[in-house]
Order: sequence, then C-alpha cells, then structure tokens
Amino acid sequence: MPTVQLSRGSVRYEVVRRRRRTIGISVTPEGAVEVHAPLRASGREIQEAVDRHRRWIEKRRTASLDRTRRLRARRFDDGDAIPYLGADLTLRLREIEGTPVVPPELIDDELWLDLRAGLSVASRRAVARHAVGRWLLERAGDVFHETHVDAARRVGRTACSVTIKDMTSRWGSCGPERKMSLSWRLIMAPLEVVDYVIVHELTHIIVNDHSPAFWRRVERACPDWRAQRDWLKEFGGDLEL
Ligand SMILES: [Zn+2]
Repeated sequence: MPTVQLSRGSVRYEVVRRRRRTIGISVTPEGAVEVHAPLRASGREIQEAVDRHRRWIEKRRTASLDRTRRLRARRFDDGDAIPYLGADLTLRLREIEGTPVVPPELIDDELWLDLRAGLSVASRRAVARHAVGRWLLERAGDVFHETHVDAARRVGRTACSVTIKDMTSRWGSCGPERKMSLSWRLIMAPLEVVDYVIVHELTHIIVNDHSPAFWRRVERACPDWRAQRDWLKEFGGDLEL
C-alpha cells in the first residue's frame, strides 16, 4: 500500500478508483486515509495529490482520532462529561433503594440521576445513557421553541410547527410550507449556533435556496452567522452522545 509522510511517521493510504474527474481524499473516524481517484490517474499523480494535502490529512487524522477517543471515553459513568449548550455538564449518579424518580435533575452544572441500587455496570450505563438522552431531547424541545420565538421576531416569519428529529446529514430543514425540522443534536451546541440554525431555516420560508439574497437576510437577523456556520463545520461532528 502506498504511504504518505506525516510529521510523526508515515501512514498508509488506500486508493479507490472511481469514475470521477478529480482526486479526493478522506479520513475515516478511525484515522484511515482513503483516496478516491479517477480510473485513469497514475500512481504518481495520486501520490503528488496526497503529498500536497499532507498537512490537511494530518489535521483531519488528529481530529478524527481525538473525537473517536472522546466518544469511547463517554461511558455514562459517574463524573463523565455530558455536552449541553456548548458546555460540559458532569454526570452524577446516585444509587438509591427502591424505584428511582426519573428524569435526571440539573443542579448548577451537574446532572444528577438516581439509579436503583445493585445494577450491574453494564445496565447502569445503559439506564444512564437512556435517561440522559431523554433529558437532552426534552431540553431540546424547550430551548428550540424559545429560540424559535425570539428568532421569528428578527426574521419576520414564524414556522407553523417545529419538529425535533434524529437527523444525521443536516441540522434542520424548512421551506415555504413553514414546517421546520431540527436535529436534536443541536442541544449540545452553543445557544448562538442553535439561534443561527433556526434563523437559517426561518429564512428559507422567504428564500428557498442559498443565494446571496438568502444570506443577506440571514445576516440581518444573525450578524455573526459566519462564525456559527464555521463552528458547525468544525465541531458539528462532535455533537454525538
Ligand atoms: Zn439552508
């Protein structure tokens, strides 16, 4: 397998040939480098393209590996970090006799969850993961609706419904029919990011594309939209429970 030289040693990469016109490079969550090349590209052309993107590959690998490590580290044990509105809450588990009262309770920046005493480690983690997921979903409902009321005033349009979904490839959607969908994962992002996504979707009620006219309207309601969009590009992939 061909390799690319990075600052801490060389890394092998796999070439996948496709009917395409340009050479594309991607890094998997496990840090493997894949090169998608046109059927007729020579090995030398591919190597040159890979070498040219050496620094980008290195950056992406570091980010992917850090993220994978971080996600694996979240086991829903006492003391684990739970992302919420751009900050980390500390998960606090408390064993109690009898039937615990769900849902978890937020006290300062600690999320307290009561669990029935005597559970195995695996079931304790499963119960905690489920309870935290439900809690975040419920918080998403409240926070997104409040933010929608505020953003609607600035955009001058209101969605007739706001549905929270388990969307994987986008953060939200809305169109002239005014039905907005938002990804529940946004509850883990800073509030300014939530606001930007809602402004973006509300603006699609007026302009149903991403033309300059669309972005001008977004900017009027959310002057720092670029920073929030960039935040999503850079950290959006981390919004996983
Ligand atoms: Zn859009």
